[in-house]
Amino acid sequence: MPNAPTRTTLTVQAMHAIDQMTGAVIPPIHPATTYARGADNQLIGEQDYRRPSGPTEKQAAKVLAMLEGAPDARLFSSGMAAIAAVIESVPTGGHVIAQTEMYYGAKLLLQRAAAKQRIRLDLVAPGDLDALAAAARPDTDLVWIESPANPSWAVVDIARAAEIAHAVGATLGVDSTCAPPCTTQALALGADIVMHSATKYLNGHSDVLAGVLATREVNDRWAEIGEIHSKTGAVPGAFETWLLMRGLRTLWVRFERQSASALMVAQALLGEAGIDAVLYPGLADHPGHAIAARQMSNGFGGMLSLRLSGGHAAAARLAASTRLFTQATSLGGVESLIEHRKPIEGPDSPTPDDLVRLSVGLEDPQDLLADLRAALS
Ligand SMILES: *Cc1c(COP(=O)(O)O)cnc(C)c1O
Repeated sequence: MPNAPTRTTLTVQAMHAIDQMTGAVIPPIHPATTYARGADNQLIGEQDYRRPSGPTEKQAAKVLAMLEGAPDARLFSSGMAAIAAVIESVPTGGHVIAQTEMYYGAKLLLQRAAAKQRIRLDLVAPGDLDALAAAARPDTDLVWIESPANPSWAVVDIARAAEIAHAVGATLGVDSTCAPPCTTQALALGADIVMHSATKYLNGHSDVLAGVLATREVNDRWAEIGEIHSKTGAVPGAFETWLLMRGLRTLWVRFERQSASALMVAQALLGEAGIDAVLYPGLADHPGHAIAARQMSNGFGGMLSLRLSGGHAAAARLAASTRLFTQATSLGGVESLIEHRKPIEGPDSPTPDDLVRLSVGLEDPQDLLADLRAALS
């Protein structure tokens, strides 16, 4: 007997998605919203209505659950919809700990819930496990971390964060958007729920908005999230889901190449005139490098940030001067993007003024480096 196929193989084949009816080697799209019943009022197939989940979403969720080593996964209409469902699952007045530095939209959503006294919220610096342990209380319901964290790429030790959360009976949720499951399996490290903006690496082509949650255990919290998901209908369309599955099939090879190119660019820009710091978890001098080396087993990703000696003006100039890096928000697509981050996040953001965020795509890395050097000079 040959060994069981690896996750790489299962992803490329979308877990053997050959259509049994036609033999087509790619999965079909099922846009139907409703499904027929027979004379006895019994469903003919397994489906009745698409909001809870249709066959296309089921197939994609199966691939994602396999990737995460999860017993179950759910697809959402966006990453933010997935986060909103987790926040909604916190009981009224429940205590939540998140990060001072994290995806800005998610932080705003948590702060809105706190301002309305839906939840009580404490924020700690990403990776500061002593601060996390000090903030954790017997009534803490949810610890929400992001690693690597936008946009300094601070690394959080997921296994230790899980110990701290579990010691007070809290759920650990991880936004692992920038460390997709080909490099980090957050559930195996102890997280209870892992979340991705599938808009980013999982789809990888900047043409689908989607989100994912996967669970380590099918428990009460997961059932509650399932209720919120299917009753609010925060689900992607069948075509978007199919595109996501198409993108997923090349996840491993895309991520490997993007990680290698980003590492090359990061190393080459160390000590470059005009650059004060290169923030990339794959660099030996990054404060989270040792943890990242353990936790990101198949590459440090395509995201890095530069801090410019010329401050705000230099950062704005660099982001506007590249030709191959397109000046745009978002990340994880095949095309390289550059962004002066602070103006996007707004005046309350803790992101330094001099920071430029890069998403390295699949172009020739030497071309990308030359583009940055030309724009810097
Ligand atoms: C983009 C992003 C989100 C939000 O996802 P959407 O799909 O845009 O709703 C959440 N977390 C991180 C880290 C992200 O990069």
